[in-house]
Amino acid sequence: MHTIWLNMMKKIYADHAATTNVDELVLDSMIPFLNGRYENPSQPYSGAYQIKKELYLARERIARCINAAPEEIYFTSGGTESNNWVLYGNTVLNNKNGTIITSPIEHHSIGECCKQLSKFGITTKTVDVDAHGIVDSDSLNRLITDDTAIVSIMLANNEIGTIQNIKELVKIAHQHGILFHTDAVQALGHIPVDVKDLDVDFLSSSAHKYNGPKGIGFLYVRKGIDIAPLIVGGSQENNHRAGTENIASIVGMSVALELNCKRMTEFTQKMAELEKVIISAFEKSDIEYVYNCGQKHIPGLINVSFKNISGEMILHRLDLKGILVSTGSACNGYKNEISDVIKSIKVSKEYAEGTIRISLGIDNTFEDAVLIANSIIDVVKSTN
Ligand code: PLP
Repeated sequence: MHTIWLNMMKKIYADHAATTNVDELVLDSMIPFLNGRYENPSQPYSGAYQIKKELYLARERIARCINAAPEEIYFTSGGTESNNWVLYGNTVLNNKNGTIITSPIEHHSIGECCKQLSKFGITTKTVDVDAHGIVDSDSLNRLITDDTAIVSIMLANNEIGTIQNIKELVKIAHQHGILFHTDAVQALGHIPVDVKDLDVDFLSSSAHKYNGPKGIGFLYVRKGIDIAPLIVGGSQENNHRAGTENIASIVGMSVALELNCKRMTEFTQKMAELEKVIISAFEKSDIEYVYNCGQKHIPGLINVSFKNISGEMILHRLDLKGILVSTGSACNGYKNEISDVIKSIKVSKEYAEGTIRISLGIDNTFEDAVLIANSIIDVVKSTN
């Protein structure tokens, strides 16, 4: 009975930083490659050649969205693989020792990868961040030495949405002749991204964060840089990433990115309005909270910490009302502990445990925002 009631409730999904729904147009673009057009693009016959052409068109579509050249785009299985590839490819796979410089608020696919690389003698240094997660550029300058292998700092954070001043950080790395990678998984499709303007050498992306399918992404590699392959055993992706291409998902990803780039202004405006609805409701109520996002953050991604309450409990109480939010990133959502990001930005102890992330998306409405805000206020008040 309880389950039936839950299923009948309107679900308000506000966890778009964890993943998004595949857009109808994206789905339509994928279907032919799942049913009918299944030839392997590596084969020499004409049907396969047509698929190869579709692959190229998808690569071109993606490249256009980030101001890259098609041959600078390498398809991967998503953000995690792209991040691992960059770090391995620029250290052990290149027979290079050295140090990786990164930030303390990176996604686990960077942090855990650095830990793994320590088994091969690669060390990691982390830059300082401020109370909103903004990297201190002086600390980057201080940490760079002759043995720095690569600098990897994310463009936008997945828990607090903070957007880094990547251009300034890249400039510092390049002044020392060091390559720069940015994890743009949370940024792409949400804010304009131009690889030439940012001047990055590598950029990671994942389709499921911008209304594309899961399990597909890409790595941008600046022309002229030769990164050693992580996955070998085939000549796909110009001999740099082996494995039969996931054509349906690649096409879907390209359509999703193009769609989100086209509607970005309208989308951003809507997200800012909905965010305002939620934050002003918190402001008007007498609940005690801290707002963890920086001034420049991903539109629609709100991270707040409430005083003397468990974020986990807020999440479950909202879930019972059909509202889906998160306490941190999807990767540590099951862990009942304060995330590294929240620790790094030094949210005080009485607030840290009461942290939740509300990440809005294209389908959320004004009514959703009002309901989310009022439900959170009710939950917080009911425990005080
Ligand atoms: N990097 C960031 C910033 C992310 O938010 C995520 C996913 O949450 C990833 C990397 C991993 O991407 P994927 O899920 O495609 O492996």
